[in-house]
Formats: sequence, structure tokens, C-alpha cells
Amino acid sequence: MWTDPRPTAEMPQLFERADDVISFAGGLPDLDLLPLEEISAQLSRLVRVGGRVALQYSTPHVATSLVPAITDLMAREGGRTTARNLVPTGGSQMGLLAVGLSLAEPGETVLCQTPAYPGAAAAFRTAGLTLRAVPEDAHGLDPEGLRDTVLRLTAEGRTTRLLYCNPTFQNPTGATLSAERRVRLMEVAQELGLLIIEDNPYGLLGFDGRTTPTLQGLDPERVVYLGTFSKVFAPGLRCGWIAAPEHLADALRRTTEVMTLSPSPLAQAALATFHARTGWTGLIDGYRAAYRERRDLMSDALESALGRGGDWHWERPCGGFYLWLRHRDGADTARFAAPAAAHGVSFVPGSHFGIDGEHADALRLCFSNAPKERIAEGVARLAAAFRDGTSG
Ligand code: PMP
Repeated sequence: MWTDPRPTAEMPQLFERADDVISFAGGLPDLDLLPLEEISAQLSRLVRVGGRVALQYSTPHVATSLVPAITDLMAREGGRTTARNLVPTGGSQMGLLAVGLSLAEPGETVLCQTPAYPGAAAAFRTAGLTLRAVPEDAHGLDPEGLRDTVLRLTAEGRTTRLLYCNPTFQNPTGATLSAERRVRLMEVAQELGLLIIEDNPYGLLGFDGRTTPTLQGLDPERVVYLGTFSKVFAPGLRCGWIAAPEHLADALRRTTEVMTLSPSPLAQAALATFHARTGWTGLIDGYRAAYRERRDLMSDALESALGRGGDWHWERPCGGFYLWLRHRDGADTARFAAPAAAHGVSFVPGSHFGIDGEHADALRLCFSNAPKERIAEGVARLAAAFRDGTSG
């Protein structure tokens, strides 16, 4: 059984509430952007008028009223689904475990983009699966390298049916796989008989408002898509979905039923009501604009504090929550954790995102949840921690 790192290890601020710490660690949305009065009125009505249903057990299906809310979100990135393909989850973390338990046998190998969201590796390992990294080049996941890896694993007698990826505004790098690469990836997946697990919490949070077609939209029969309301609405409702090829949906549904009996009817009804009355556009546009501003504040502060061409390399992300800093000389960034704590700033060391401790020379900064007036100060503290960690 895999025990470390835990998925919540990337969210230290949930556990440590030191007032003066500026956290660039956890991937948390900024819920000050939610229209709380409106949501409160909608929830209150749901309980008053429909409480006997909304607070009862329900069936292991996505509520009929929530289906249009999901199809609306998915269609914005070219995704296609129907109620028959949908399986409710309590967020994509649960979806990842359901996939690992339902779609592979213990001992099988899951191919994984790395660096990757640590909760994915933890879920697959909890399901008894082994992980192998997929080759990457300067443009991200490399379909030709993928083919070589699968052929090699097959020659070694290993069963490899699943590929996990987070192709849009990836956690932790912020990178997006190009539309051309996506087409080639799906061709290679078809040739090799691979099923793609597409984890897409951030796809709608592109700062220029543009989207890249999801893999699911390119080939719905070859992709198990993990969707979540955590980043476009709020994670506290613990509500997400899997959009799977119809022949796999029932196996996934059985597993989720074993996990929780049913999804939360109240959470599903809250989201369906918000979509029907208010719609997603205003909220998502608000998140995008706020995160774009914070991305700019963080990138500008990094440029003036660290300079381009110095010890650290990074790309300016075009969407999502994260900025990935890599040390040019390969220093283990864990050495900066204690100085950062002493200066009152936090980050997540890169090794958390490796499947075998790799990427220790990088670190992840999250800009979505830091108060914007404190971002420059946080970066200055980080730069001071880098100086202390280098000289010490
Ligand atoms: N996948 C990725 C890539 C994530 O970044 C996260 C949350 N940080 C999750 C899955 C899990 O999200 P949730 O369970 O809240 O839907």
C-alpha cells in the first residue's frame, strides 16, 4: 500500500493556520469570487421546499437536473456526453480511485505523465497498480516515445492499458498539450489499444478565454474523462463526474456505489440550481480574470526578484493555478523549505509530483489563493529563502 505523499500534502495551509504565512502551496480556488448571497438563497430554498429529497439518499446516477450543467461545461471544450455515459463522483480524487479499482487489475501498469498531481499516483497505487512515466519532450507528452514505452513494457510481459494525463493547464507545470499533439496522441492510443484517463479540472481557466479541445471530445470511446466542480465552482461541495464510454460506465458506477452509496443530492441540486438560474459564464469569467491578474503579479515579482537567466527557470502559465520553477543546477528544492518557513512563505517541493521522487529540482507555486496585495511580498520572502538556502 502506498502511503506517501498523501494527496492533501499539497495543501499544507488546510492544516497550518499561521496568520503571517503567505501560502503559495495548496491548489485552492479563491472563494471570495463566489456570489455567496445568491448561493445561500438558492440553498435555503432547496432545503425548505425540496429538503425531503435533497437530504435523502439518492441513486448512484448523476441527477437528471445536473446533466445539462455538466454537458454545458464539457461542450465549452469540445466534450460530448449523455446521461448514460456519466458517473457521479465526490470530486476527481474519488474518480481516480474508482478508475484504478474498476478498469485495471492489481499489478497492471498505468502510464503517467510526470510531474503529475500526487493524488493520481496515490489513487492508482492504492488500487494496487504500478506507475511508469511517459516520455516527454519540449512540447510535452511525446506520442512516439509513448509507443516505444508500451511496446517495451509489453515485451517485458507487463499489461498496460491505461494512460493518465492532465493535458490542460497541468498541475503542477501549468503546461498545455497542443491540439496537434492531442490528435497524434489519440492515434497512437488507438493503435496500441490504450484507454486515456483525462483529468481536467483547470481546462476552462485559460487566461485569454480560449480553450483547447479535450481528448474526450476527439475520441469519446477511448477516453475516461474526469470532471469536477472544484475549480470552477467550489471544492467544498465535493462534487464531480466521470464521462466514460458507455460499456465502462456501469463498472465505474458500481465502484462509486460501493464507495459512497450515492452522491450528495444536496450538492448536486445546488449546482443544478446555480446553473439553471445563474449559468457558468459569469463565474468562470470572474475566476479567469482574477487568476490572470495573480499570475501577472507573481510572474512580474519573480522576474524582478530572481531575474531571467539566473538560477531559476520558469514559463509564464496561460491558465490554471500554478507556476513551476526549476533550479538550473538541479538543487533539491526541499533545502529551501525550512528557510521559506522561517521567512513566512510556503511552496510544494517538486519531488511530491514525481512518481518515484523525481523532479526534486523543481517546486510548485500556486497563485490562485494568495491575496493579490501580498503576492509581491510572498515572492520577496521566497527570494530571501532561496538566498538563505543557497548560502547555508
Ligand atoms: N486532479 C488534479 C489534476 C487536481 O489538481 C486535483 C485537485 N487539486 C484533483 C484531481 C482532485 O480534485 P477534486 O477531488 O477536488 O475534484
